[in-house]
Amino acid sequence: SIMDIFEKAYLYDLADKAREAGIYPYFRVIQSDQDTKVIMNGQKVLMLGSNSYLGLTNHPHVKKRAVKAIEKYGTGCAGSRFLNGTLDIHLELEDRLAALVGKEASLVFATGYQANLGAISAVASGKNDIIVTDKLDHASILDGIRLSFGKMVRYNHADMNHLEKVLKLHKNHPKVIVTDGIFSMDGDIANLPAITFLAEKYGARVIVDDAHAVGVLSADGGGTAKHFGLTEKADLVVGTFSKSLASVGGFVAGEKKVIDFIKHNARSLIFSASLPPGSAGSVMGALDIMEREPERIERLWENTTFMLDGFKKLGFNTGHAETPIIPVIVGDDYQCFRMWKMLEEANIFVNPTVSPAVPKGQALIRTSFMATHKKDELQYALDKFEETGKQLGII
Ligand code: PMP
Repeated sequence: SIMDIFEKAYLYDLADKAREAGIYPYFRVIQSDQDTKVIMNGQKVLMLGSNSYLGLTNHPHVKKRAVKAIEKYGTGCAGSRFLNGTLDIHLELEDRLAALVGKEASLVFATGYQANLGAISAVASGKNDIIVTDKLDHASILDGIRLSFGKMVRYNHADMNHLEKVLKLHKNHPKVIVTDGIFSMDGDIANLPAITFLAEKYGARVIVDDAHAVGVLSADGGGTAKHFGLTEKADLVVGTFSKSLASVGGFVAGEKKVIDFIKHNARSLIFSASLPPGSAGSVMGALDIMEREPERIERLWENTTFMLDGFKKLGFNTGHAETPIIPVIVGDDYQCFRMWKMLEEANIFVNPTVSPAVPKGQALIRTSFMATHKKDELQYALDKFEETGKQLGII
């Protein structure tokens, strides 16, 4: 007889098993705004797992601009950018984002995920196209490639010799290299000088996914290419509004002609409703604050340095982390869950990451930091990491 297509759901027991063992770390419920402390189960918890790098999701000015946009344009556009869903603030936002990352033009999507889907599948829509990716690139890049007609080839994380081999092997194809600017799990920065050099040498284009780098890298928050002085050489920059920019949404920026092509070919843009006015307003507000208060980025980096130094002094392994994303490598999956649980009991929110998300034996606690974390909050975190790390024999 034919199997019920739901059979796999009925047989799925991974989540149930983790719940029964009391080590299920997903879909935790927060009852407050996203701040350095959040409320969970009615209790204050120190948040070390947020992407709100500049701490702007509850900023009064950002909220005010969101409310104003809703008052003027309503709560939704009831259609795609392609047809009835383009507002004047979308265009204003696109001009500001293009300027921020140093590009001619940009295009706003409803999520960063959709920006990658749309940009990559449109750019690599030829059967002969090759998309070259770092093995640690974000899932939305992989999904973009699945929607494209190009072929994916991967190089080992940050391995520029391997990248060159791959480029040489496909020298007779149209090519694009896609890389995270800041890698979302390891917290290291892509070697853009080497990547853009090799791209030029082998005639490839470059897309930088700056989801975690906008608002973080470069003094004005302009991202990875700006940080390296390479805005000319990063052909397309993808960004999201769901991290530093305090909302949800995304964009791709680049040459006018190429952005116009993506605008007319990205299915994730054309067949999906446009960014809601409230989100557009929030992003405008976040950009205002970023311009007015560059010291926020400075504070983010002070906190980053404090935590990187702190973890290292305690003897923790933070891998190649060099940004506000700091993984604390624990090793064993079970140890990782125990450490997460102990930190949770100390009212600290972190994200445990175990195999297969990371290689076996490389289980880690992913921490990320905000400009608004206070020194006493960070010191409390270090103290609790020390306590639990010693108890578990990790340090
Ligand atoms: N790219 C990277 C590197 C990301 O980390 C993320 C979000 N985790 C995205 C893209 C998708 O962004 P969004 O949340 O806006 O869909």
